[in-house]
Amino acid sequence: MLDRKMYKALEKLLGPENISEDPAVRTTYSYQWCVEVDRAWRGESPTRFGHLPAAVVLPKTPEEVQGIVRLCNEHGVKFKALSTGFGAWNAVSSPEAIQIDLRRMNQIIEINKDNMYAVVEPYVTNAQLHSQLIKYGLMHHMQGAGPQTSPLASHTSMVGPGFTSSATGFSGRNVRAVEWVIPTGDILRLGSLTSSDAWFSGDGPGPSLRGVMRGLMGAMGGLGIFTKVAIKLYPWPGPPDWRVSGTIPNYEFEVPPFWKMYVINWPDWDAFEAGYYQIAEANVAMMAMSSSQEGLATMI
Ligand SMILES: Cc1cc2nc3c(=O)[nH]c(=O)nc-3n(C[C@H](O)[C@H](O)[C@H](O)COP(=O)(O)OP(=O)(O)OC[C@H]3O[C@@H](n4cnc5c(N)ncnc54)[C@H](O)[C@@H]3O)c2cc1C
Repeated sequence: MLDRKMYKALEKLLGPENISEDPAVRTTYSYQWCVEVDRAWRGESPTRFGHLPAAVVLPKTPEEVQGIVRLCNEHGVKFKALSTGFGAWNAVSSPEAIQIDLRRMNQIIEINKDNMYAVVEPYVTNAQLHSQLIKYGLMHHMQGAGPQTSPLASHTSMVGPGFTSSATGFSGRNVRAVEWVIPTGDILRLGSLTSSDAWFSGDGPGPSLRGVMRGLMGAMGGLGIFTKVAIKLYPWPGPPDWRVSGTIPNYEFEVPPFWKMYVINWPDWDAFEAGYYQIAEANVAMMAMSSSQEGLATMI
């Protein structure tokens, strides 16, 4: 339970329908894939239920996010943001913390086909963005966690390899300008946003803060909250729609005539490494992934 003064202030900021201390709601947020692994390592019973957050809040605007962070600072309460919430790392790590669920921030703000970037909010999924981009013959780097996860979370805050990494790299390399509510509650705009309202660059003027912002793996919610990000785009080497028939598990995908699929069997790890470098440098594979249990087969 939150301090009543803080609860009232949050209720006023967000509206009563966008804050909850209901045990059923809080329990839902505590149920996370992978918690059982951590618990088993600690010798505890392997349940998927972690800490219940003290409350759950659903902001809609960067200013509301800013207000929540300021109230947390004022009352000494920790907070944890989630975008689509795929795994234990988005859950609170102590019961005194509140969960900031960003699902109401769900807009594709801009698709700039000339300068090849898209600006998205936290709850836009890879599938939503991709289905808009292919209409323009464009695609983005999609992290391997899947089409239902958030490109904003991946690009700003967590890890970043995906099936197209041989062509599109790593999430951290595809970030352009960002809008970021830092832990003090101030709104920081990085890159070209510092001197204009354009999102095309993540650096400057002056020293870049991209390294501080996410480093290699991302701060996983430990450095404030990102409310918008611009993502680099690439040419989409396919038709403007997916030719799919049937449904799960018996669906079929029509491979475009100018695509080819190969399975390569490597004799050993040295050949695997050398081969992967060659595939990436030759720029011939949009997608490359290990496809056997031992990892020594690659599908491109
Ligand atoms: C089965 C499985 C497979 C996965 N495979 C991959 C993979 O191939 N490649 C890969 O890169 N990752 C992978 N992951 C890890 C992770 O789920 C991804 O990195 C994914 O991008 C997270 O997206 P999400 O929308 O679920 O983010 P969330 O789970 O919502 O957030 C991820 C982290 O970022 C923080 N965060 C989220 N939104 C914000 C925000 N707006 N501001 C500040 N912090 C924020 C959260 O607190 C959390 O720590 C996998 C996870 C699972 C469970």
